[in-house]
Amino acid sequence: MSVHYQPVECKSFLHHFNKKFLPFKWGANPYRGCEHSCPYCFARYTHEYLGYDSGTEFDNKILVKVNAADVLEKELSRPRWKREAVNLGSVCDPYQPAEQNFKITRQVLEVFAKHKNPLFVGTKSNLILRDLDILLDMAKHTALIVYITITTLDDNIRSKIEPRAASTEERLDVVKRLSDVGVTVGVLSMPIFPYLTDGRDSINGVVKAVSDAGAKDMVPGVLDLRASCRNCVLSLIEEEFPDLLPKYLALYKTAYAPKDYTGKIYRAVEIARRSCGFKKFEMPVLTEKQTTLEV
Ligand code: SF4
Repeated sequence: MSVHYQPVECKSFLHHFNKKFLPFKWGANPYRGCEHSCPYCFARYTHEYLGYDSGTEFDNKILVKVNAADVLEKELSRPRWKREAVNLGSVCDPYQPAEQNFKITRQVLEVFAKHKNPLFVGTKSNLILRDLDILLDMAKHTALIVYITITTLDDNIRSKIEPRAASTEERLDVVKRLSDVGVTVGVLSMPIFPYLTDGRDSINGVVKAVSDAGAKDMVPGVLDLRASCRNCVLSLIEEEFPDLLPKYLALYKTAYAPKDYTGKIYRAVEIARRSCGFKKFEMPVLTEKQTTLEV
């Protein structure tokens, strides 16, 4: 796949969320579009606001916010800024392949660290280990939670649903290496794909593997097929798992799987989580005073 990187100057870097259930009110994205190319990516539709399509152009037209660190420095220096928690990578993966060359995420991490600003960072890439020095500094001086997505231990399935992201083994290695040095790591096990990664063995395997690697929590989410995800995911199923297509069409009469199905999956995850010693899930809360975090 040939990828086009478009340098852009942003006017603001932080954007405000208005969702009460999230533990942060601010998001930040060094890149728009994502080369990891997950068909289920909920952010695909956002590329349409930029004049691109939400299919292949989301994967291969990547906007690079070259002035992000300068803009962030100004935003965090404003007297009215209250050091609220920010989610770095709220729309697109901050450690996607572009970061190898452009290093925008590293630059903004340095600014967050300088201001000791509470931070969530989410990724599916082991490139985050490059920035271990800054993450360690932040873990010591402010509130930081890294979220790694791990959807399955089956790397054959992983390579189809997250084709250009790090392998499952590499992601487990990230969880372990960050946890071993005291960075708080949670795992997002989402989306769980019906009939592919929703079996009891699959769920138990993921929960045990992330627990053994040192994750402080594991948060599940069943696949939904909102907006452009529907076509992307159903095309993937048709191409790679054609026998499952009728079952997907039957299950996803709307964008969401029915509650009796999702309830069954979440119960299975909860049993697995408890057996590995995870506490009842609560949304993590970051405050600048926290030095030890629990998720
Ligand atoms: S890594 Fe995240 S942002 Fe990138 S395509 Fe996958 S789901 Fe979307």
